[in-house]
Amino acid sequence: MATGIWVLGNQLSQQQAAIQSCSHQENTPVIFIESLQHIQKRPYHKQKLVLIWSAMRHFAEELRQQGYAVTYEVSHDFITPLKAWVKANNISEIRIMEPPDRGFLDIIAELPCKVTVIANNHFLWQKTEFQEWAKGRKSLLMEYFYREGRQKFNILMEGKKPIGGEWNYDKENRQPPKGKLNPPPPKHFEADDITLEVIEVVNNLEIPTYGSLTSFNWGVNRTQALEVLEYFICTNLTEFGTYQDAMVTGEETMWHSLISPYLNIGLLHPLEVIQAAETAYQQEKIPLNSVEGFIRQILGWREYMHGLYHYVEASYFQENYFEHTHPLPEFFWTGETNMNCLHQTFKQIHNTGYAHHIQRLMILSNFSLIAGFSPQEVENWFHGAFIDGYDWVMQTNVIGMGLFADGGILASKPYASSANYINKMSDYCKNCAYNHKEKIGEKACPFNFFYWNFLHRHRNKLMKQGRMSFILKNLDKMSAEELESIQQQVDNWYH
Ligand code: FAD
Ligand code: SF4
Repeated sequence: MATGIWVLGNQLSQQQAAIQSCSHQENTPVIFIESLQHIQKRPYHKQKLVLIWSAMRHFAEELRQQGYAVTYEVSHDFITPLKAWVKANNISEIRIMEPPDRGFLDIIAELPCKVTVIANNHFLWQKTEFQEWAKGRKSLLMEYFYREGRQKFNILMEGKKPIGGEWNYDKENRQPPKGKLNPPPPKHFEADDITLEVIEVVNNLEIPTYGSLTSFNWGVNRTQALEVLEYFICTNLTEFGTYQDAMVTGEETMWHSLISPYLNIGLLHPLEVIQAAETAYQQEKIPLNSVEGFIRQILGWREYMHGLYHYVEASYFQENYFEHTHPLPEFFWTGETNMNCLHQTFKQIHNTGYAHHIQRLMILSNFSLIAGFSPQEVENWFHGAFIDGYDWVMQTNVIGMGLFADGGILASKPYASSANYINKMSDYCKNCAYNHKEKIGEKACPFNFFYWNFLHRHRNKLMKQGRMSFILKNLDKMSAEELESIQQQVDNWYH
């Protein structure tokens, strides 16, 4: 009788808990499964399918070379190949690392052997540790969680105090993109034979997918993921904080790290990323505002989103605080809209599966929020369209942060804004059919009339959010006629 390991597509690390739990012996059975049923929940981006399947095939090969008895199956479902593998290898126990998304484990209930689920070690905080932190708190503000993480893992600390005296240096960050900026080009990789084979498979799939595969430049193994990290630390980290929120036409990645696809499938571990940034601060004198800002994204936001996903009810993804029900417009798939900010962002996602945080938050989610699109449709679209999308990180980011559909469990106020913010933080408005200053009329920017209409419609709910009172005072200065014209403008847009 043998113990076998089932490696999931987002657990591609030698250090992952299920592999670590078995003392490696020659011919330990390991199985990988590409399930076609699994990818039919929604149309996924072709780039994501290639990334996951190619990374799985590379990792399977790595284990094979180390003497594991690797079985690699392409199947309709998971259960059929699992049953066959258990029988063929005389397996009495399957070990699996706990998946970060809920629901996946239901699949294994039918298996004819013992299944041991081992706690996930791809995050810094265990689910139970987050629950311990959250228990009894009135507010689950990320900032306090982050400070606790800094102390718990001793990151950027001088004894009990934060290095430099502040926990957060955002006042030095988030500059608008003034003048000519020259962000470094993203690191690209040539597709090898394994990846070329997967590209062919994905191009020939007879199930609905999304996006383009004209070029595929992502890394697909640990060595390449480490190269991306090193490139980021050496070339991007210095300016990361300064231009973290800036958006420039044609500069799709700015100074961002592009590591989320690798972190989320186990090719990088969050602690090694954080430590690489901290070392760069200590040894290379990279500015603290950038290093702290970057570390906060991972030690703070990423861990917080994962902890919160497992803390809230399983029905969290169905939340709809503002009761928004409009279906998504066709341009989410085609990118064909005269709104330049949206057009540029959709085009880029279609080609790469990637957009940076502010494009996701202040262009896509912001518009979806103020225009009143169904949160569930928006979340489903995001999940399919992004290279780094998984339930744990999509539901919290889209339902909680982007759309405030959870009524404020995660964010202290909705991230809603007019064209003002987009004009300040990007160059998109310069080449747009609409005028970012107008809220009524043929040239009025939809971000403006939707924004004021959103505030007006939801005044009562928004009043409960302390941080909204200043903005609501501006709404009160508008005349009834102006609000009516805005409503008319909104109605015309939908029809
Ligand atoms: P950088 O800007 O270089 O940041 C470094 C790392 O910090 C990221 O790689 C990521 O691991 C982490 N990080 C930063 N912010 C967050 C956050 N809010 N939640 C989780 N991790 C964070 N991130 C995903 O990994 N998958 C998603 O599906 C996803 N969907 C999002 C949807 C919306 C509406 C929003 C507002 C954000 C979403 N994010 C998601 C968070 C964030 O936008 C991406 O992690 C980031 O843009 C990835 O690009 P990067 O690696 O270049 O990030
Ligand atoms: Fe976007 Fe409005 Fe600016 Fe056009 S004018 S780019 S729609 S914010």
